[in-house]
Amino acid sequence: MRDEPAPRYEGFEIRKSVDLAYMDTIVPPDSNVCADCLREVRDPGNRRYRYAFINCTNCGPRYSIIHGMPYDRSQSTMRAFTMCPPCDHEYCDVEDRRYHAQPNACPTCGPRLQLTDRDGTPIETDDVVRFTIARLRDGAIFAIKSLGGFHLAVDASNDAAVRELRRRKRRDAKPFAVMVVDCEAAARWAFVSHHERVLLESIQRPIVLLRKRPETLPESIAPRNPNLGVMLPSTPLQYLLLEDPALPALVMTSGNLSGHPIVYENHTALEQLREIVDYFVLNDRDIRTRVDDSVARVIVREGKDEPLMSFMRRSRGYAPYPIHLPYSVGSVVALGAELKTTVSIGKANQVFISQHIGDLKNDTTFKSHIDCAKHLQNLLSLRVDTVACDLHPAFRSTRAAIEQSEIRVVQVQHHHAHMVSCMAENGLSGKTIGVVFDGAGYGTDGTIWGGEFLLGDSEGFERVGRLRPMLLLGGDQAVKEPIRVAISLLVETFGDRVAEVDVPAVRGMPGERREVFTKMAARKINAIPTTSMGRLFDGVSALMGICSQIEYEAQAAIEMEALLQRDFRTAEPFEYAIDMRDGCLEVDYRPIVGELVRLLRSPDADIPELSRRYHSTVVDMIGEVCARLVKQFGIDQIVMSGGVFCNEFVLVNALKCLQSRGFKPYCHQLVPTNDGGISLGQVVVAAAARSTAARPMDRGA
Ligand code: ZN
Ligand code: ZN
Ligand code: FE
Repeated sequence: MRDEPAPRYEGFEIRKSVDLAYMDTIVPPDSNVCADCLREVRDPGNRRYRYAFINCTNCGPRYSIIHGMPYDRSQSTMRAFTMCPPCDHEYCDVEDRRYHAQPNACPTCGPRLQLTDRDGTPIETDDVVRFTIARLRDGAIFAIKSLGGFHLAVDASNDAAVRELRRRKRRDAKPFAVMVVDCEAAARWAFVSHHERVLLESIQRPIVLLRKRPETLPESIAPRNPNLGVMLPSTPLQYLLLEDPALPALVMTSGNLSGHPIVYENHTALEQLREIVDYFVLNDRDIRTRVDDSVARVIVREGKDEPLMSFMRRSRGYAPYPIHLPYSVGSVVALGAELKTTVSIGKANQVFISQHIGDLKNDTTFKSHIDCAKHLQNLLSLRVDTVACDLHPAFRSTRAAIEQSEIRVVQVQHHHAHMVSCMAENGLSGKTIGVVFDGAGYGTDGTIWGGEFLLGDSEGFERVGRLRPMLLLGGDQAVKEPIRVAISLLVETFGDRVAEVDVPAVRGMPGERREVFTKMAARKINAIPTTSMGRLFDGVSALMGICSQIEYEAQAAIEMEALLQRDFRTAEPFEYAIDMRDGCLEVDYRPIVGELVRLLRSPDADIPELSRRYHSTVVDMIGEVCARLVKQFGIDQIVMSGGVFCNEFVLVNALKCLQSRGFKPYCHQLVPTNDGGISLGQVVVAAAARSTAARPMDRGA
C-alpha cells in the first residue's frame, strides 16, 4: 500500500519506547500491570500479595494521575501518600525495579480499596475481591474504579444481569465490552487471530473488536452485532477478579450516565451511578484525568502481510502519545469538532493527541474538554500561538476559540481537517485527493456536507465531487430517525409517484407520519439539505427495514454492515449516475434507491444480499469518482477519512479497488477515522495557514 516503509503501527511498537529517558520529556501514557508485578501479586510470601495497587517503573498509572511535569510523585495524585521505609528504599535504590516508580505503594502505605453499598455506606469485609466475585456471581451490578475512570461490571455469562444493567443504564442496543483474563479465555467467546492477540496483550490494553463465536455469551451483550469488544485486564484488581475461575468474563462498560462523560471521582460516582449499581468498589487513589478505554480493530486482508489497524477510539494507553510528522507545525492547539472530540497540541514535529473526550453538547464534557486543552499545554510546557477549531459556528469548541482574544484563530473546514489528518499520519504532502465520508460537517457554503471528494493539501482545498443532496426532515431529528431520511430519498427518487412506493419499511409506518414526512420532503419544509454519506447509509438501512430509529450514533449503518458478517466479498453494485454540476462531480443515488425499492417489493427479498450490494456500490462509486479525478487532475495520491470508513467492508474494499486501479490509497491507522481524528488535521491546517498567511484558507465552494 505504501511506497516507503513508514513508521506505522505504533500500537504494536510503543512497548519498548516508553523508557525512562523518554519519560522525562514525554507525558507517559498509562500502562497495564506488568508480568513481574503480577508474579508478586500472586505470591503469598510477597509483601504485596493480592495488593490492588502494585506497580513498578515498567507499569502502572501515569497520564491519568499526573498534575504536572516533570513527572514525579509530588506532581501526581500519589502525593497524598507517604511511602513507608521499605517502599522508600525501593524508590531510592538504582538497582531496584521500583527505582523512581512514582506511584510506588504497598498495603502499609498506599491506596486501599473501599467497598460500599449503593448508598455509599461502607461494607465491612476482610476481602473486597472475594466479596465482589461472590456478588457478581449472584448477578449484582458493580461500579469499579479502574485506571482512568469507573467501569460498570456484571458477570458476562449471566444474561439476566446483563439485561438488568441495560435496563438500569437505559442502554438498550449499544454493545457492551467484555473483559477476560487472557487470550485463551477470549478465544472461547470470539475468534482471535495472531495480530489480534498481539493487540489484546499490548500494554495499552485496548478493547479489540473480535468476531463473535455464535451462541457462547448471551446475545444481550452485543445484540445484532457480529463483533464482541474484548479487553484483557490492565489493573491488578481486574486480574484478581478474573483469575478466579468462578468468573470467566465480565461485562465492563464505562461508568457514566447516557450522554455524560465517564465518571472518575468517588463522590461523583456515588452521586451519579447509585441508581445503576448495587455496590461500589472505590479506592483513595485519585484520578487526575479521566481516560476512557481505547477501542481498536485489526483487519487481516487476503494477500497482505501487514494487517490494517483501526482505532474507533484512541484513549487509555495511547493518549497523549504523539504522532510524529516529517515537518514542523509550530505551537498550535486544536479543539476538534463536537462529537467524539479530542484535543491536539502541535509542538514542532509532533502532535500530542488527547484521550477521547466525548460529546461537547454536554456541559461536563465541555468543561473537561477545556481543562484538557489547558492541562496538555501545561504538561508540554508550551505556549501556543494559534488555536484551530471547526468552521461550524454553533459548535461550542468553535465558540470557545473565537471568544478568546489572546491568540490567533484558524477555523478549519471539517472535511478538510479529516483529509489532512489522514495525510499527516501517513506523512504525506503535496496535492492529494481526499475521499471524506461521514455524518455531518459544516461546509464552506454554509450547508451540511458529508459525502465529499476534495482536492488539496494542508494549505487549502477544492470540492471536486460530492453526493447528490438529500433532505434531513426535521433537522437533527432525522439523524435519530433514519426512516425520515428514507422518505426523503423516496421523494427525491420518485417525485409525485412516491405514494405508490410499497416496501415493508414504509408500509409499516402510521399513514399520518408517512404523509407528514412526504409533505415536508416535497415542499422542503423544515428540511435541511445535506450531501452526507452517513445519512445515505441511514436512509438505505431504514428502507431495507433494518433500523428505522437509532439509540446510538451510526446504529443504522452498523446494523446494516453487521449483516455482512465480516465477510468482505463484494457483490454486483447497483446502478448510479455521476453528473457534472456546478463544476463538481455529483453522485446521483436515485438509481440505487429505485432498484432497491423494486427488489424490496419481492416477498423473499434477501436483505443481507441487498446490504452487500449496497456496500459494494459505495466501493464502486469511490473507485469510479476517483478514476475520473485522477484522470482530470493527474494526481493519484488518495486519502480516505471520515466516520463512514469505520465500516470495514467499505474500507478494505475501497483500498483494494483503488490499488487495483493503480492509485495510491491511504487510510487512518494511528488516529480514528471518525471525528476523534479531526484535531490532528486541524493542527496541520492551522500550521500551514500560518506559514502562508497571505492565502485564503478555503478555496472550496
Ligand atoms: Zn510492574
Ligand atoms: Zn509502602
Ligand atoms: Fe466528521
